[in-house]
Amino acid sequence: MNQENHDNGRWLHRELKDKILTVHRRTTANKKETTMKLTGHCYCGELKYEAEGEVLAKGNCHCRECQYMTGGHPLAFLVMPEAGFKYVEGAPAIFRRSDLENPRTREFCANCGTHILSKSRPGAVVLKVGTLDDPSVFDKPDMSIFLIDKQPFHHIDETAPTYERMKT
Ligand SMILES: [Zn+2]
Ligand SMILES: [Zn+2]
Repeated sequence: MNQENHDNGRWLHRELKDKILTVHRRTTANKKETTMKLTGHCYCGELKYEAEGEVLAKGNCHCRECQYMTGGHPLAFLVMPEAGFKYVEGAPAIFRRSDLENPRTREFCANCGTHILSKSRPGAVVLKVGTLDDPSVFDKPDMSIFLIDKQPFHHIDETAPTYERMKT
């Protein structure tokens, strides 16, 4: 690919990004809020969703459970308000472990198996960044969590704080 084509590609990508994403940044006295309107879908396309609102957190999770979802590497997550989330096509299959006292709710596509989100705290959904129409909006993690379960082959983002378990 020559340079000109490459640049055209980048430009097209940016136009597409403008269509599917609205980002507003505003700075209040001591808090920077980023609100986003995101769209995404599962691998087969049966499930489609929209998520709108303030980004509550984003990071990489190295926990053992996430390794099952990703195939081994850390999971990139984006926490969004549950009130701003909805499926616009399809209905997810729901899984909770019955052997745990406070199991997470996991929602995934019954057809292709893609995990869309988990629910671990009230009022929020933890989106799997790989299901976004444009995963690049994640940009970079603000934190790396559950390093207690880190594997020797994991890379840790050097620009973000790290935590043994949850962010404290
Ligand atoms: Zn699917
Ligand atoms: Zn995890």
